Amino acid sequence: MLPVKIYTRKRIFNYYTGLSFFIFIWISKLTKDEVQLVRHEKIHFLQQVEMLFIFHWIFYGLFYAISRLKGHGHYVAYRYNPFEMEAYANEHDEAYLKKRKIFAWAPYILTYNKFLTENFRGLDKEKRF
Ligand SMILES: [Zn+2]
Repeated sequence: MLPVKIYTRKRIFNYYTGLSFFIFIWISKLTKDEVQLVRHEKIHFLQQVEMLFIFHWIFYGLFYAISRLKGHGHYVAYRYNPFEMEAYANEHDEAYLKKRKIFAWAPYILTYNKFLTENFRGLDKEKRF
């Protein structure tokens, strides 16, 4: 059954508790809420499938790069990526994976666009994880 779940004892890249890439999701044993994290990573898995994987990786990278070029730090560029906004907004919803519509991340582009012009510098400094 996809995606294939892989557990790690440490954080992934010494930083993340979860990661979704291709047909795999990595889940750190250090996570506080495994069910929610797995749901978050499965949302990313579905995003990748509907974009034939490669287009998801390209768009994810583009959203991130544009945000960095606009002056945002890593955290804001990551957290306010449309793909992450969909995953964070719905990771608490137990029924989400079943009711999710294709390209459900797309409406978050509007929020992403809005945030691109806002000043997040304080948040970048505070919100390191
Ligand atoms: Zn994520």
